[in-house]
Amino acid sequence: MTDYSKYSFWLETCGENLTPRATLERSTEVDVAILGAGFTGLWTAYYLLRTNPRFKVAVLEKEIVGYGASGRNGGWCSSKFPVTPAMLDHRYGSERARALMLAMKGAVDEVCRVCQQEGIEAHFHKGGVLTLARGEHHLSSLRSTFAAYDRLGLSGWVRMLTAQQVAERIRVTNVHGGLFALENASLHPGCLVRGIARAIERRGGVIYENTAVTHFEGGDSPRLMTPAGEVRAKAAIVLAGESYLTRLPTLHRAVLPVYSLIALTEPLSEAQWSQIGWQNRESLASFNNTVDYLTRTFDGRILFGSRGAPYRLGSKISDDQDRHSETHARIENLTCEWFPILKNTKFTHAWGGPVGMPRDWMPMTHFDPRSKVATARGYTGQGVSTANLTARVLTGLILGNHTSISELPIVQRRSPLWELEPLRWLAVRYMQNAFFRIDEAGRQGKRKPMDAFVAEFLGRH
Ligand SMILES: Cc1cc2nc3c(=O)[nH]c(=O)nc-3n(C[C@H](O)[C@H](O)[C@H](O)COP(=O)(O)OP(=O)(O)OC[C@H]3O[C@@H](n4cnc5c(N)ncnc54)[C@H](O)[C@@H]3O)c2cc1C
Repeated sequence: MTDYSKYSFWLETCGENLTPRATLERSTEVDVAILGAGFTGLWTAYYLLRTNPRFKVAVLEKEIVGYGASGRNGGWCSSKFPVTPAMLDHRYGSERARALMLAMKGAVDEVCRVCQQEGIEAHFHKGGVLTLARGEHHLSSLRSTFAAYDRLGLSGWVRMLTAQQVAERIRVTNVHGGLFALENASLHPGCLVRGIARAIERRGGVIYENTAVTHFEGGDSPRLMTPAGEVRAKAAIVLAGESYLTRLPTLHRAVLPVYSLIALTEPLSEAQWSQIGWQNRESLASFNNTVDYLTRTFDGRILFGSRGAPYRLGSKISDDQDRHSETHARIENLTCEWFPILKNTKFTHAWGGPVGMPRDWMPMTHFDPRSKVATARGYTGQGVSTANLTARVLTGLILGNHTSISELPIVQRRSPLWELEPLRWLAVRYMQNAFFRIDEAGRQGKRKPMDAFVAEFLGRH
């Protein structure tokens, strides 16, 4: 039997023994059938049942609840959206961009509220996000990010900090300033995802685990097919498999699976924490293109996550990509570079998983009332809170309830498909390599590589 606790520290410490629930054994009919028991699928099931307690809802999960990115992430529950405020403003205008940012703030608060209502102990902690300018080359990004919030009338959410003000919160090397954004929290994603599953079951929803959907079909009576039988739905089927949806032939180019990897230290001593500071447990990042995200965990460890594991031809997803020795070694080195006092500290866990990146970086929620197929996906590593928002949007679309969030720019849209291989592989590997070279040049105080403008233009989001 699979030992699911080895997939992440969060699954290991969620307080459950992770024995799979029953599988689907025969065909059945429900009102809504959902593929995927991560945050998207589970929040959708939760809100459907909360809004319409008589609904029959079934969730079909290939592995166990939280097996995917929802049980493996960095624990940021953030009002940050995968597309930057500046790009949202550019694409949709300031009013719609602002509405989306407010909805993201609302999602963070909503996650906290449901945890309280449902008795889910997910270690929710609203410490904000601190994004550091590590090197002078990051200062222009810091200022332009602040300016973008300001243009949307949200300057009250963010505060520019000097290096000295950052040092009063946390001691990290090579800091030239920081941007503090309050409307963000950190949490234990394993406890949250497993807790939502229990809340669904209390409301009569059924979750089948070790149940892989092999095909789906829309129509009057849409259905999810599995080797043991099919689940027909009266109202809708929901495809909530994020990056794993690429394994279904018709959705192969819908998103790009990009691996994000994490290294975790042992719990630090009080003496180490007193040198580092970080008493408010802000989520921490820098302005690097290769992405770094850090969390001070509920039990006093440092979680350091980053991208860089190579994209594999054909959008391959496999367990052996969860660990990439070169990238994990780089993350451990980065941890010690940020916090030199940790040079003899042990790293106890290393894991990773795929995030689903849409071609235009923009998450989508879509429900086609004719085929009765609904989906939400494409969070590019910002899905913990965003999936709560998209699930509420999907619930409204499926039930025909129009609310203020039905007007957001994520609603009833589709992203363009990714290119065919091998073009996709060539382009993505070029971008991964270019971002690494740009960051490295900045770190060494050198000029950007000649082709930086190409990568920065293609990677604008
Ligand atoms: C290492 C890492 C760090 C991250 N850090 C953060 C962070 O700090 N903050 C943040 O906001 N976001 C973060 N993310 C992204 C975030 O975790 C995801 O965006 C979010 O969890 C997506 O939820 P989901 O339910 O859509 O997808 P998933 O959680 O991936 O769930 C999809 C589920 O569908 C199941 N499935 C797939 N195909 C089938 C099938 N055919 N049949 C049945 N079941 C199927 C899978 O097994 C899986 O359980 C991170 C992601 C990773 C990998």
